[in-house]
Amino acid sequence: MNQAVRPQPTPIRIAPSACPHDCPSTCALEIEVLDAHTIGRVRGAEDNPYTAGVICAKVARYAERVHHPDRLTRPLIRRGAKGSGSFEPIAWDTALDLIAEKFLDAEARYGAEAVWPYYYAGTMGLVMRDGIHRLRHVKKYSGFHTTICINGAYVGFAAGTGKIAGSDPREMAKSDLVVIWGTNPVNTQVNVMTHATRARKERGAKIVAVDVYMNGTMEQADLAVLVKPGTDAALACAVMHCLFRDGKADWDYLNKYTDAPRELEAHLRNKTPQWAEAITGCPAATIEEFARLVGATKRAFFRLGYGFARSRNGPVSMHAALCIPAITGAWLHEGGGAFHNSADIYHWNKSVLEGHDVRDKSVRMLDQSRIGAILTGDKASLCEGPPVTAMLIQNTNPVSVCPDQDVVKRGFARDDLFVCVHEQFMTETARMADLVLPATMFMEHDDVYQGGGHQHIILGAKAIEPPGECRSNHEVICALAKRVGAEHPGFAMTARQMIDHTLQRSGWGTLAELEAKKWIDCQPDFETAHYIKGFNWPDGKFRFKPDWPNVPFRSPVPGGPVGQMPKLPDYWTIIEVADEQHPFRLATSPSRGFLNSTFNETPSSLAREVRPTLMIHPDDAARLGIADGSAVIVGNTRGRVHLHAKVFDGVRQGVLIAESIWPNDAYPDGRGINTITGADPIAPFGGAAFHDNKVWIRPPVAA
Ligand code: SF4
Repeated sequence: MNQAVRPQPTPIRIAPSACPHDCPSTCALEIEVLDAHTIGRVRGAEDNPYTAGVICAKVARYAERVHHPDRLTRPLIRRGAKGSGSFEPIAWDTALDLIAEKFLDAEARYGAEAVWPYYYAGTMGLVMRDGIHRLRHVKKYSGFHTTICINGAYVGFAAGTGKIAGSDPREMAKSDLVVIWGTNPVNTQVNVMTHATRARKERGAKIVAVDVYMNGTMEQADLAVLVKPGTDAALACAVMHCLFRDGKADWDYLNKYTDAPRELEAHLRNKTPQWAEAITGCPAATIEEFARLVGATKRAFFRLGYGFARSRNGPVSMHAALCIPAITGAWLHEGGGAFHNSADIYHWNKSVLEGHDVRDKSVRMLDQSRIGAILTGDKASLCEGPPVTAMLIQNTNPVSVCPDQDVVKRGFARDDLFVCVHEQFMTETARMADLVLPATMFMEHDDVYQGGGHQHIILGAKAIEPPGECRSNHEVICALAKRVGAEHPGFAMTARQMIDHTLQRSGWGTLAELEAKKWIDCQPDFETAHYIKGFNWPDGKFRFKPDWPNVPFRSPVPGGPVGQMPKLPDYWTIIEVADEQHPFRLATSPSRGFLNSTFNETPSSLAREVRPTLMIHPDDAARLGIADGSAVIVGNTRGRVHLHAKVFDGVRQGVLIAESIWPNDAYPDGRGINTITGADPIAPFGGAAFHDNKVWIRPPVAA
């Protein structure tokens, strides 16, 4: 009997890649490629020892974002008023000619510094994100002082160890106590939980979480240490006080590896748990329990996050928390020590990628977070130089994510400012632009990535064709360079050539080798990672007494009241302390469904987050007559924002939490949460204090 031969389904191709999003996990991915233009499910790579097969839900559903009907697919030129949203299609060549004309015009009128290329880490790897530096270095356009994300945390960590590197984060699985401080990995970097819970399951390890509200990570912890925003250093000081008091300090370690242990001990003598309770709101008994666990556990791993460093005293808080494992000598043990980020292990040579060979260090550096002040002509923010009159913006959405949003919007509304935005969606910033260019997403171009929360270099090769006329950042930068007369070998390379060249110059082999093995494990050996031969200072000693103005940092542009920084770990009251007019402290923490302003266009993330809400303690809500779900207005001298109250006993009294970042148009008057965050720089090297805001809250009728 003849049987019909059934056609066999074409096997789905799996493309290895890396998550490009602004999240320390930089997960190794496996992407189902359904055809040349379409992806299916995205999974975490099982064989990557950090990702270990686990990724967050929003990236697992990435097909929803890459094939979103609202993706930009053609260059657009503005035809209505700025911000009107009225655009019409334009040819690529015409668009690029127009940018070049505007950049050359700005240069002729005010000098090259009138052009400010602006970018960030939102959705790209090294080639696509950092190539914009090459253009600015060749042309001597204004520099870009990246302050919005990492500064407070990096500086606080480097103040103690001398560099941004620590124990292998996979060692969390070998720890007996994992302290997750100021980060919410259940929302933003799921792999921390993978390794921490493995330690709990396999070794009976305890998990301690420190945060400003009972988020998903705090819920999963064995001990949740709930503090008020900006008070983490007081908690750290009290824990250290207990360790010295109870004979849990490892004096052999302290004498060999630290700079001023006796001075620190004396300084902490009155920093008792009761003292800290009055500042943090956390009961002294909880602080004692935390200190008891740390004192009893040699293999204690401090996973220190970014969140608690986004306060005006953030670097001091980060440093204070980092001091704890130096007191117990936890660094000596596998599964012990501290980790924040692997930034300093990669020894990249990006001279061709970023054009370091042609960099003129006399060119002014403009502060990313102060874009509002810069665009509205604040002389100090402009370094007393010319106005900014032309910008190219790639991979970031300052009209939503930057602090002091009303001022940012005023700056972008200037008629004499030319703005080109190269983006994936019509963001709030793109809407304010004169020209909008459609950008590729990560699986539509070749790039290479470095893990922040782990230690891998990962290749993300092109897997599908981009929709419509989308072009990569690298293509746009190279095409623009030609038109503005910028010459550099990097502009003649393809993205793959740039990856190969950068890998080889950095001592990481070739692109072909990386392609064969998918990633490189760059983890230094145990002795280096745990500073067994000494910390990264000439005398090898961990710094309890940081020299704040001289902490090693890649971009040491002074900012904030550096001279007032405490000499030893302490609670620094430089934060916006609540007062009579502003009786609440507000933190703007990351939500689970969004990542900064990315994913706030995908239907499943919007459905999960529902609407902009503000968490408030039940006693505060009752006193103010605020019911669960009712409309509220929260504000300060910078502006006001409309949200809905969520009455929640997982915050301290006097504290408000707004998980973000919602699109601005999700708020009734178009003012997003960053309307009320401040752009004043954090000492010593700048940064935005997103979780450090004094505010009032009222029902709308009383506003
Ligand atoms: S956890 Fe972070 S790095 Fe991993 S997939 Fe999600 S957003 Fe990307």
